[in-house]
Amino acid sequence: MIASRQQRGHALVVGAGVVGLASALWLQRLNWQVTLLDRQLPGSGTSFGNACTFATYAVEPVATPGIWRQAPGMLLRRDSPLAIRPGYLPRIAPWLWRFLACSSASRVKAISHDLHSLLKPCMGAWQTLFDDAGANDLVRHDGSLYLFEAHERQSAIDMLAYHQAFDVPMRLVPGPELRAMEPALNARAALALELPQVSRTLDPYALSQRLLQRFVERGGVFRRGELLDIERHAQHGERLSARLSSGESLPAERLLLCTGAWSRSLAQRLGDAIPLDTERGYHVLFEQAGGLVNRPLCWGAGGFYMTPMAQGLRVAGTVEFGGLDAAPDPRRYRYLARGARRFLTLHHSPSSRWMGFRPSLPDSKPVLGQSRLLPQVHYNFGHGHVGLTLAAITGQLMAEQASGLTPSVALQPFLAQRFR
Ligand SMILES: Cc1cc2nc3c(=O)[nH]c(=O)nc-3n(C[C@H](O)[C@H](O)[C@H](O)COP(=O)(O)OP(=O)(O)OC[C@H]3O[C@@H](n4cnc5c(N)ncnc54)[C@H](O)[C@@H]3O)c2cc1C
Repeated sequence: MIASRQQRGHALVVGAGVVGLASALWLQRLNWQVTLLDRQLPGSGTSFGNACTFATYAVEPVATPGIWRQAPGMLLRRDSPLAIRPGYLPRIAPWLWRFLACSSASRVKAISHDLHSLLKPCMGAWQTLFDDAGANDLVRHDGSLYLFEAHERQSAIDMLAYHQAFDVPMRLVPGPELRAMEPALNARAALALELPQVSRTLDPYALSQRLLQRFVERGGVFRRGELLDIERHAQHGERLSARLSSGESLPAERLLLCTGAWSRSLAQRLGDAIPLDTERGYHVLFEQAGGLVNRPLCWGAGGFYMTPMAQGLRVAGTVEFGGLDAAPDPRRYRYLARGARRFLTLHHSPSSRWMGFRPSLPDSKPVLGQSRLLPQVHYNFGHGHVGLTLAAITGQLMAEQASGLTPSVALQPFLAQRFR
């Protein structure tokens, strides 16, 4: 990628989550003058509360071949990582139908190849931003462990085999070695898979703030406001006008839409019907337990991570279909706290709890590329379970496309038009 030194014009990035922040920095690196717009404070949305991992291994989509059989049982169980708010079932049904349609072995393999194309360069793109923003102190490269109970041995073997086909470094760790690596784990954790190339941030919110600080140092402007609509500029056909709820209009040559789980209706106005919904996720924080484990530990069957971070041990995960408006379900917090106690002795109660909205497509792939009606609008949303991981690479790709450069990864598999 060769950046021209000439100023390219004015770009507006809407949404100041980790995806919008990374996009804004990449646009600046390509000589755009950038305004970042959000109705909330930067980094305070879904990007605030995730499990902190750069999940470079995550080639497997959420819908896998066994899901038809597993999901009904999981939905009926009280102690389950998956839940649907009964009132939301009619709304989510078409999404679920598409989701199940993505779960055949051949679709899963094709999706994995597409995700792999983004995951392979994702840490290189992040390293550029870590160096630029002076954020290396917020990142650790100490790998992670997937835990398995004794009866889940076959799942470990299957996971290993699937990921080896994509050259994802991974190895089986037997019980005694696991206990030497993580002495706080009890015997329920019978074996593990080590993923040595997983990195983590000590604090996703602090990382967002560091990116914001660098953005402002480079001359970027953050504006608080809510985007309502995007129109072609009345006088200058090439330019856009972003109409805000305040009544104000912001003109720009390019607009990157990074509005996470709230992107569906905005894209609809631009002529793209995208089946975006939200997989709500939760976390609880055990403040006193930050030093208990050495690296992020995931119990896949339970759908959560236990991650050591700056504020303590964050237990984060689960999926709840319930839309953008319903209040959090306190049972989900209890589930996470119980889940962590399944493997660790935790003396205190969680000191804080959080719920956020993963922006999710049925095929677990983000939406990248130009909108149908206004090609000056570039989509960068729908990162689902891996938005922290993919923020830097998708920001780079959309900045390249907005600048008229050939994106360094082929965008075809991620276009909005795949849903027609
Ligand atoms: C429990 C949990 C654990 C997770 N763990 C991981 C993990 O370990 N690794 C990983 O890679 N990913 C993880 N994720 C996923 C990741 O957090 C998300 O994919 C990512 O944060 C999405 O970032 P975003 O910038 O698209 O969205 P957000 O952070 O939600 O940002 C979107 C922003 O857009 C703004 N906005 C929306 N509409 C408008 C509008 N009309 N006008 C102005 N502003 C608007 C919002 O205010 C918000 O600030 C996890 C998610 C959850 C819930």
